[in-house]
Amino acid sequence: MKFQRIFLLVFFVITNLAAQEFKSEHFTIEKLSDGIFAVIHKAGGYAICNAGIVNLGDETLVYDCFISPLAAKDLKTAAEELTGNKVKYLVNSHFHNDHIRGNQIFTDAEIIATERIKDLIETNEPEELKSETEIVGPMIEKTLKQIEKENDLNMFEEHKMWLDYYKAIQQSLDEYKITLPNKLFTDTLVIKGKKRNAAIINLGKGHTEEDIVLWLPEEKILFGGDLMFAERHPFLGDGFPNEWINCLEKFKKLDAKYIVPGHGNVGSNEDIDKLKLYIQKVDNIIDNAIADNLTIDQLKQTEIPDEFKSWRLSRFYMLNLIIGYQKKVGANK
Ligand SMILES: [Zn+2]
Repeated sequence: MKFQRIFLLVFFVITNLAAQEFKSEHFTIEKLSDGIFAVIHKAGGYAICNAGIVNLGDETLVYDCFISPLAAKDLKTAAEELTGNKVKYLVNSHFHNDHIRGNQIFTDAEIIATERIKDLIETNEPEELKSETEIVGPMIEKTLKQIEKENDLNMFEEHKMWLDYYKAIQQSLDEYKITLPNKLFTDTLVIKGKKRNAAIINLGKGHTEEDIVLWLPEEKILFGGDLMFAERHPFLGDGFPNEWINCLEKFKKLDAKYIVPGHGNVGSNEDIDKLKLYIQKVDNIIDNAIADNLTIDQLKQTEIPDEFKSWRLSRFYMLNLIIGYQKKVGANK
């Protein structure tokens, strides 16, 4: 029995060694299968979102590339060390800043997205950068003060997460160059590798106008980008609740072994159900507020439902209510 346990331990250590070998202050690496890795944001680091590394055989694919080129450099090195190949493909899951700002580190790869995602990066990033340059210093000051006086452990961790976000932006302002995707597709792009196939799928409206997921059919592993948040409040402000729920129902049918979210830890089907419930609840709260003729100020009194109180990124909750309310009231006029 004892030898068996030692053997299992040695086996575990060896199989996980490759993933453990690469150390970064920005992320941790989780081996999901031979040649498939989830790259998860580390507290205090500048990744902010999660990413994926997939060895296709003699070439490597990376899914999403963080908010900071500095963290993206580590991601590229990790991908090449773990797989022994150059990164041939980088996928931009959607246009949000935290998923695409490492593009400049991957200019010798094909940067894959859709025409619409490329347009959204091109139109949003200059404005986003301009406003970030103005607010990032004051936001760091404000967040540091919040951390100092926070007594609630959950909120303390949440403030620290936002501090990572603002610091990552501030650190990268000088270095960052807007870099657009250079390989565009419409619906589905299947890359056939020597070792495995990767399906890159545009699901259309969901978290944003267009979101791309990565599906590895042989291993049943899904990289969901920001269509998946695990134990985190999703940002619904650029999204479409009904279409997003349709996407989640499609995910459920895949019966994935692992689901790598855009934010949070590697999840499962249970996380799909929780996220679906969140989107439905927020949508119901907004509908009820409109039916009861509540003002925005009255809506702001709405507490986070109990089942989501422990979720991080709680700042998104109020934004989700307000933006959702304004969109619906505007549409009804
Ligand atoms: Zn996003």
